[in-house]
Amino acid sequence: MSGVSLLKETGPREVFCGLTSIVWLHRRMPDAFFLVVGSRTCAHLIQSAAGVMIFAEPRFGTAILEERDLAGLADAHEELDRVVNDLLARRPEIRTLFLVGSCPSEVIKLDLARVAERLNGALKGRVRVLNYSGSGIETTFTQGEDGALKALIPLMPPTKETQLLLVGTLANAVEDRLTNLFKRIGIQKVFSFPPRQSTDLPAIGPGTKVLLTQPYLTETARALKDRGAEIIQAPFPLGVEGSQLWMEAAARSFKVKDSLVKETLEPLILRANKALIPYKNQLAGKRIFLLPESQIEIPLARFLQRECGMELVEVGTPYLNREMMQAELELLPNNTQIMEGQHVEKQLDRVRQQQPDLVVCGMGLANPLEAEGISTKWSIELVFSPIHGIDQAADLAELFSRPLHRHDLLNQKQLVHV
Ligand code: SF4
Repeated sequence: MSGVSLLKETGPREVFCGLTSIVWLHRRMPDAFFLVVGSRTCAHLIQSAAGVMIFAEPRFGTAILEERDLAGLADAHEELDRVVNDLLARRPEIRTLFLVGSCPSEVIKLDLARVAERLNGALKGRVRVLNYSGSGIETTFTQGEDGALKALIPLMPPTKETQLLLVGTLANAVEDRLTNLFKRIGIQKVFSFPPRQSTDLPAIGPGTKVLLTQPYLTETARALKDRGAEIIQAPFPLGVEGSQLWMEAAARSFKVKDSLVKETLEPLILRANKALIPYKNQLAGKRIFLLPESQIEIPLARFLQRECGMELVEVGTPYLNREMMQAELELLPNNTQIMEGQHVEKQLDRVRQQQPDLVVCGMGLANPLEAEGISTKWSIELVFSPIHGIDQAADLAELFSRPLHRHDLLNQKQLVHV
């Protein structure tokens, strides 16, 4: 058992809500549409997080609950049916419609499961309607993906075939590279969830071995297990070491010879370690503080400490699933301070007291910290960027060296002006 120190705190939070994950989910499944049932604030969040699409029809929208709906004066169900019917008439290419709950829909206790059931009856299979919550009362930003994937699981057909299922959204190019590597070591049946088309769902059953690509899919992993799948325990595929251990765990589970795995990965590892050197030179010895936001913090901390030589001041995570994170925790140095949950004021006090070289945090905290002279990295950028796999290790390190480099340049400029 690792000697990390696990602490917990609760208090005021400063994290994006689960609606944010629509930004990467709608790119992954272009035949799906995400209809947020929320307020103008929710619409504003999604628009600003995703940027306004000028040339393409967006694949997300908001059914606005007006004040009279919130006061319970109007029948929100009727209004929602009207919005959905208009949308589907205008957009016949939509195959899966996600109704995404928000704080306002939860406050008025709008039962989206019942709405989805009614619409499924009326649409007779032409479009599948699902629901999940992205509300900030219940979720942080990566949990939206967990909810969306869990909602798809009942639609996955059954199978008894032996197969590998990669679970969690990956950039398409990264997914292709990883799938190809598994095929090279003899694992031929490799599927991904979520798929590239929402209707192209992989089958699931007792022969399925699940390899998680993202650490925030607790509910999805549980539901896949309930369908008979086995979850392969491994660190997550971030950095050279994490990605190697991740692939080796899958290989062991499929009884692939160690020598074949070694021979396949060795050239990649050599190349990646070489590409890491300049970033390692910049990052080694620097002190990093990770505030809780994405649930990717622990694998990132492991990569930054073990492969880049950074010193971990504190590693925050909104939630800690100890079983899923066990392999990661074992790789962290003894006495690493892991803080589950958030009390934003106390955490900021600790940041100011510790004066780290770099803070990983949400966008809302980045500007004030930068104004105080502390370099920051937005957590959300790490979810949007293709950072998985051995080949991506240097790109991942670069994301952390960039703000430090910018900080150095700004300091030099100030010195010249003095
Ligand atoms: S779901 Fe809640 S936290 Fe998220 S944008 Fe809407 S009101 Fe804000």
